[in-house]
Amino acid sequence: MKFVTAVGQDGMFVGLMTDDESHIIPIKKVEESVYGSSIIPESLLDCLKLGPVFMEQMNHLSSAFKTKTELHIPIGQVTILAPIPRPEKNIFCVGKNYVEHAIEMGSVEDIPEHVMVFTKAPTSVVGPNAEVLSHSNLTTQLDYEGELAVVIGKKGRGISREEALDYVFGYTIINDITARDLQSKHKQFFIGKSLDTTCPMGPCIVHKSAIDNPNDLNIQTFVNGELRQDSNTKHFIFNLQEIISVLSKGMTLEPGDIIATGTPAGVGKGFKPPKFLKSGDVIRIEIEKIGFLENTLN
Ligand code: MG
Repeated sequence: MKFVTAVGQDGMFVGLMTDDESHIIPIKKVEESVYGSSIIPESLLDCLKLGPVFMEQMNHLSSAFKTKTELHIPIGQVTILAPIPRPEKNIFCVGKNYVEHAIEMGSVEDIPEHVMVFTKAPTSVVGPNAEVLSHSNLTTQLDYEGELAVVIGKKGRGISREEALDYVFGYTIINDITARDLQSKHKQFFIGKSLDTTCPMGPCIVHKSAIDNPNDLNIQTFVNGELRQDSNTKHFIFNLQEIISVLSKGMTLEPGDIIATGTPAGVGKGFKPPKFLKSGDVIRIEIEKIGFLENTLN
């Protein structure tokens, strides 16, 4: 199941993409048409907070989602937002989680021994096709980073590697857009990672049941059609289980928390000379079994 947050004629709603991705199924409307009432909340974040009851209800409704075609909305009639348009916390981001990327950012000495984590402000999130601001008064080195992101579905602390995937709800795509000059000027990454619109996310959250092994997914980034990043999450230095285990050691992870898992080699800074983003550039990130996330720099 591919969950989306969309805006249609009646406002914002949680939907499912049809298998051919031509329509959005408004899950609450289908639920109401079947049961005459609804337990599904208005936002996807609140759906995740419902816990196992949410997916139980979704599974009960799975055949109705297919047959109630009169409720399906053509995808052209809605605007798809980030699946969680305003996260409650900063987005956790893993840095230098692919060997080749760590080297392109410096040298072999940059390959981390321990999971490296920074965060992006919730205000940086935008959806697919949303305009990304160039912030040209602040930066001349805006750069893209295509990443697999994991969305937590169950509260936990001290989560073991063995149990880590039980705490996952699903997966999405994030473009961890970075102002490289601000990232280095301010030492701590936060400002350079948190400018408004520099966290495109989406188009959907794919439920984990559709992805056997998140540590083996092809990931590619294109800028204006040119392939810049081409890798697979099997090349993670720290796999998803390790990341969740390390992050949750002394800090509670909660439903709706989002962890971007790091970017492969091929960022603009890694080229000689660097290929930073410029106005009008179209950045497209594709991840196997999830889809693609495309945004244009204004
Ligand atoms: Mg990153």
